[in-house]
Amino acid sequence: MSHRAGRHFLQIPGPTNVPDRVLRAMDRPTIDHRGPDFSRLGRAVLDGLKPIFGTHHPVIIYPASGTGAWEAALVNTMSPGDRVLMCETGQFATLWRNLATRLGLRVEFIAGDWRHGADAAAIEARLAADTAHEIRAVCVVHNETSTGVTTRVPDVRAAIDRARHPALLMVDTISSLGSIEYRHDDWGVDVTVAGSQKGLMLPPGLSFNAVSNKALAASQKATMPRSYWSWDEMLGPNKGGWFPYTPATNLLYGLHEAIVMLNEEGLDNVFARHARHAEATRRAVRAWGLEILCADPREYSNVLTAVVLPEGHDADRLRALILDHFDMSLGAGLGRLAGRVFRIGHLGDFNDLTLAGTLSGVEMGLELAGVPIAREGVRAALDWLIEARRPTALPREVVSA
Ligand SMILES: *Cc1c(COP(=O)(O)O)cnc(C)c1O
Repeated sequence: MSHRAGRHFLQIPGPTNVPDRVLRAMDRPTIDHRGPDFSRLGRAVLDGLKPIFGTHHPVIIYPASGTGAWEAALVNTMSPGDRVLMCETGQFATLWRNLATRLGLRVEFIAGDWRHGADAAAIEARLAADTAHEIRAVCVVHNETSTGVTTRVPDVRAAIDRARHPALLMVDTISSLGSIEYRHDDWGVDVTVAGSQKGLMLPPGLSFNAVSNKALAASQKATMPRSYWSWDEMLGPNKGGWFPYTPATNLLYGLHEAIVMLNEEGLDNVFARHARHAEATRRAVRAWGLEILCADPREYSNVLTAVVLPEGHDADRLRALILDHFDMSLGAGLGRLAGRVFRIGHLGDFNDLTLAGTLSGVEMGLELAGVPIAREGVRAALDWLIEARRPTALPREVVSA
């Protein structure tokens, strides 16, 4: 392929653009992971992650993709044949369900239409009917990356509490952590699953389990076979900043820098920035005359927007055209949404002008692909970004990017 001038726009909802500061931080020698320098790095990232998860409890780091942390959450807490309750919010919830099934768990999957978040009322009803307390865990995806729908985790917690049910609450935050507000402790989550390559602005390759005391206690009784994923093996060495096997040292350098960056900006400002860009994107989509896949405005994702194309137009063809002409990657429709939707990622290392460029590429692509739109989307988004900058328009934290 010939040289393409300028930067590639990686606007899929993960992996996200890796900031130069993170790339520079990783561009260092790999050190002895049993030597004295390493333990300082290990302790710094293990401690530094806790406020990002909103927890005072341990966070475990695996050299693995997010899928590994899904598996770790289950094999550490469950026994063969245990029942778990999951919700069909989209492709990622479906993949977690498939993984749990392959591990030998009995999964009940509450059906969904891929346009809504987890149904707290349905969870409450199912748990209330489970008087024998056979269901061991409720697993939900916080930000369903295939649909652009965010589940309100506190509502799920409240549903479990109203049913007075002892099931563990496990939450996949792979695409929300560091982008949308999340509070592991305050929301009563037992295991939080996360990954490096989305809101944390790192390359793929790290994933995480944040673990409550209740989850730790469950792990002492759980009998699923586990070795590589075992929390026990990790927690001992982690106290001194060590790992039981070779950690992904250079990714940990990057993680350290990403934590510093999130703290410099301030997590609340990071969340407000994502909210501002998400709202601007939705205004663009509506102004184009296209449909947002998420059906409930209370569940709009601040991380990505999935856009439905009109009947007779192929979203994959549109994405190929935009990649070809404008060197921008957009997210494909996944699973049952293939060809019908495309996804605009607006998360991570991302500012007003990145959004303006992204939406300009989409608008030009829609026009070139012959999708009937009003060419008003970019304008509507810019209007919103301007409003957000006016001194009196919004609380200060919303405008300080
Ligand atoms: C990306 C993603 C995953 C999968 O993570 P991998 O790192 O690809 O294994 C799982 N769940 C959600 C919500 C995601 O966004």
